[in-house]
Order: sequence, then structure tokens, then C-alpha cells
Amino acid sequence: MGNSFIKSLGEKYLMKNYIRQPMALVKGEGAYVWDADGNRYLDFVSGIAVNNLGHCHPEVVEACCEQIGKLMHCSNLYWNEPQVELAQLLIENSHFDRVFFCNSGAEANEGAFKLARRYFQVVKGSRRYKIVTMYKSFHGRTLATAAATGQEKVHTGFDPLPPGFVHVPFNDVQALEKAVDDETCAVMLEPVQGEGGVYAAEAGYLKEVERICREKGILLMLDEIQCGMGRTGNLFAYEHYGIKPHVVTLAKALGGGLPLGAVLAVEEVSEALGPGSHGSTFGGNPVSCAAGAAVMAALLENGLINNATQMGSYLFEKLEGLKRKYGFIMDIRGLGLLLGMELSIDGGKIVDLCREKGLLINCASQKVLRFLPPLNITREHVDEAVEILDKVMGSLSEEGEDEIG
Ligand SMILES: *Cc1c(COP(=O)(O)O)cnc(C)c1O
Repeated sequence: MGNSFIKSLGEKYLMKNYIRQPMALVKGEGAYVWDADGNRYLDFVSGIAVNNLGHCHPEVVEACCEQIGKLMHCSNLYWNEPQVELAQLLIENSHFDRVFFCNSGAEANEGAFKLARRYFQVVKGSRRYKIVTMYKSFHGRTLATAAATGQEKVHTGFDPLPPGFVHVPFNDVQALEKAVDDETCAVMLEPVQGEGGVYAAEAGYLKEVERICREKGILLMLDEIQCGMGRTGNLFAYEHYGIKPHVVTLAKALGGGLPLGAVLAVEEVSEALGPGSHGSTFGGNPVSCAAGAAVMAALLENGLINNATQMGSYLFEKLEGLKRKYGFIMDIRGLGLLLGMELSIDGGKIVDLCREKGLLINCASQKVLRFLPPLNITREHVDEAVEILDKVMGSLSEEGEDEIG
């Protein structure tokens, strides 16, 4: 089946909730993917920050295949080895004490919200229930995580959303201080906002957020579903800011391409989820966790996270170079290999033209191009991507000149 046949079947049988590029991907290797017509693309999307080790990383493939042949599922009525192995890797490489596994980012954030409410209502005997989140945040598509998301377009048509979510501007300490009252149980934010347009927390901001949470006796919970797992040049993005959150949520890159989410918490908070209080049938599935353990091992062993820092600053410099050249580039921002380029024009056309020249990039909000290459890319990959971008932008600015002339 070629691209157009697969597309036509999809258009006939699938719900129309996604806006898709016009090709089907059939194969991936490292930083490259191939479509059903045999075209090759350099992948600077990585399944939206999922394939942090590139496509079909041999150690992840091997770990999955081995586990698939042994045990695919057993439920959480029993212990399973890959789950405890991955839990140990996450806990021994962070300041957290315990993990809860689930299947997706939204489910991890739901778990964190339930954990925060139950911590206050059951452990502390208080009625605190409100959770403060940020404008331009993205926390997921379930009812509660949509309510937590500070973007109108994620709410539209789904009323009534669950109550108890309050939004404030990101990087605004005073607004947060004002929004926290005696019914607030937690603050949740992304250290680097991804979907909202690639905005990183400013240098002193998270320290202030931590201070506010400590003074008011509420929980600091970070959504690192996109910015965690080495993406920003540290295993966790919060490490850049010298803070110690009570809770962090992970998903996306955690399962190396298989569905896997996690809630990590410090001991006292984790106590809130006692036996029978929360759960998931597939959560911590042996195959996903075997993949996750292979991902963690690769991230920790091979200087890969350091490569994310180095390639991140190399790509940043190159994008700055394009900014000096093209007047429609307004800003380059982000952290590590989670980078954004804000434009004064619509980004969709640039995404299309790059794809036609063999480069996959993504447009986060309408005018922000987002770059999420695998963390193990080389300078040559960056050069290849920037060369394509340069050609595409050059052709656009020529068009612009023609129009002016
Ligand atoms: C992708 C994402 C989510 C939602 O994850 P799903 O697996 O799609 O439910 C939540 N938070 C952030 C920051 C994300 O990037």
C-alpha cells in the first residue's frame, strides 16, 4: 500500500480528530524515517519527543523482543521484573522515592492530580483540592487534564469540565502567589512548555514557585512528559533550576516508543495512594517497562544526555544564524534539544515545504516551529536540517520580495 491508498482508507474509517501530514510512515532507523512510497526524511519531530534514542534503537528493540517472548502481560495483581527494574533506575537517578506506572501522559497527570487531592484529604485531613496550572500549558486530553491545560482550544465543546483548576500566567511569581488560597493543594507546571509554543521557565522563577509551595504547605508537581528523559540536557528538566519538586510526571520518551507513563513522588506524598486507591490494567506492562529500562540504561551510559546539550547549542546557534538572515524569524528559544522558532508568518507552509525536501519538523502553536530531534543526532544531521530550512526560507523570502516588487 502506498501513501495515497493508506490515506484514503484512513479518511474513510478513522475519526477526523487529527490534522495529519499526507503520508504514511512505514519504517524508521536512527534519525531517519521512510514513507510508504519509499521517500526518506530526516526526523526532527521524533514522534513528538518520544523517540529520544532515534527509531528502532537496537538495545530497545532487543529488550522488547526478548520480553515479548517471555511475558507480555500479567496485570498488577502480581509483581513483574521489568517494572521493578525500571522503577529502581528512575528512583536511583532522582530524589524521588516511589513510582506509579500508567500508559500515557494524560494518565500520569490524572494520577498526579488524584495523588495531590488524596494526600490532603486522606493523609492531612484537609479539604484542599484546587490545582494551579499555567496559561499556554498542555497536560493532556482527558477531562481533568484538559481542564488543567491553560489553552481555550483544548476546552471548547467539552463542558462541564471538572472543577478545581485555576490558571495563571507562566513566569509570573506574583500572579501565582495571588492565586494560591487555603483551598489550593498543588501547583503543576512544565519547566519547559512544549505544545504551548516552547517557553522555558525563567532562571529564578521555579525557585520562587518552590518557595511559595513551601510557605503555603502545598505540593509542587512538574509535568516533564515532554521535557524530561534527557531532552533538555539533564535527565529531568528541573535539575537545571536547582529545585526539588514533590512529584514529577513522565511519559512520551519513557517507553522508547511503547505506551508508558509514570508518576514519581517523594515518600510522604506517595503514602496517599494506599492499597486499592488507584490503578491501571496495563500500567507498568512488562514489555513497555523492558523498553523503558533499556531507554534509561542508554541515556545513563553513553554520554547521550551530554550530546543533547552539545547538539542543542549547535542547533540553537545555527537557528540564530537563520534569524539574522530572515526578517520573519522573531525569536529562537528553548532548552537542550527542545527548541522553538517563533515566526511572524504562519509556520504550516514551512512545515510542508521542509517535508517536500525531506525534513520533518512540527509547528507547536500556529507560528512556532518546534525542533525535537533524537538526542543522539550528530552535527551532520543538524547541518542537513538547517540547510533544508535555509533553502525553504530562502524561497519564501524571494516570493515575498516578488510580491513587494
Ligand atoms: C504530550 C503531553 C501530555 C499528554 O500526553 P499523552 O500521552 O498524549 O496523554 C501531557 N503533558 C505534556 C507536557 C505533554 O507534552
